[in-house]
Amino acid sequence: MSESPSKKPKVTGSVDSGILNERVLLLVFESMKWDIHALCHTSAANRKLRALARRLLWRELCAYRAPRMISTLIEGCQISGGWDALAKLLFFCAGCESTRHFKLSQLTSGHFVKSTRFSKTSGRSFLAKKCRGDVLYVSDPCEHPTVDKQYDVGIYRGVFRGFKKSRTRDCLINRRVEFEEGVKCPYCGARVWSMTAARLIPRRSAARRLGSSDDALEYFVCLNGHLHGTCWLAPLSSDEDTDDCDDEDEENDDDMYTNNFI
Ligand SMILES: [Zn+2]
Ligand SMILES: [Zn+2]
Repeated sequence: MSESPSKKPKVTGSVDSGILNERVLLLVFESMKWDIHALCHTSAANRKLRALARRLLWRELCAYRAPRMISTLIEGCQISGGWDALAKLLFFCAGCESTRHFKLSQLTSGHFVKSTRFSKTSGRSFLAKKCRGDVLYVSDPCEHPTVDKQYDVGIYRGVFRGFKKSRTRDCLINRRVEFEEGVKCPYCGARVWSMTAARLIPRRSAARRLGSSDDALEYFVCLNGHLHGTCWLAPLSSDEDTDDCDDEDEENDDDMYTNNFI
C-alpha cells in the first residue's frame, strides 16, 4: 500500500529478544499504521529502544506515513538532522513566540496536528528567485487565534531536500548572514537563519501563498534545512483568483497529506 524509499534500512537479526526484536517491532508498528504517539512512548521507554527508534523506527514511520514526500527528499540526498526531527516536523506544529521581526504579545504552544498538507509548489513561493531550483516542501499554515489582535497567527513549517547543497544555503553563506540570536530550530535544535534578515523572502509570493493580509511574515531555516515560520492571516475574502501566480503546475504537484490518528 505504501511505497517505501528505495534504500530500505537493513533489519538486522537482533540478538535481543522480546520487544527489541526488530522484525516484531516493525510488524507491531505496521499494524498500528505507524502511530506517532505509540512510537514516542516506545522511544521514551529506555535507552535501547531510543537507539533503535533513531536507527530504524523513525525512518520507517516517515516512509510509511509520507511515502512520496520522503522518496523525493531522499532522492540522491541524505536526511540531515535525523529522522526523529523529520517525523516531528511532519506531525507537530511548533507554536511560536515573539522574534526580532515578528512581534507577538503571547506565546503560542506547540501541538500535534490532525493532518497537514505539504507541497513543493507552496515551497517554491518561499524561495528567492535565484534559489528556485531548490526543492522545499512547505505546509499550509496552522491557524492560531490571538487575544489582542484582529488577525489569527498562521504557523507553518517545511523542509528542504539536500539543504547542504542548496542554492539557499549558498546564498546565506555568501551573504555572511549571522545566526539568529535566541532562536533554535524547534525540530532538531540547531541554529537558524532569519530569512528576513537574509533578505531572502519573496514577500509577495509567500504572503499570497499563506493568505497573509500583508507581508507580515517571517521564517527561519536551520542548519539542517528545516523551515519554521509565522504570519498574520487575512480574514476570508472573496477575491481569491485575481492575482497572477505560478500555480500552473498545481494539479501535478506532489502534495502530501500527513494524517494523524488523534
Ligand atoms: Zn498550530
Ligand atoms: Zn532543524
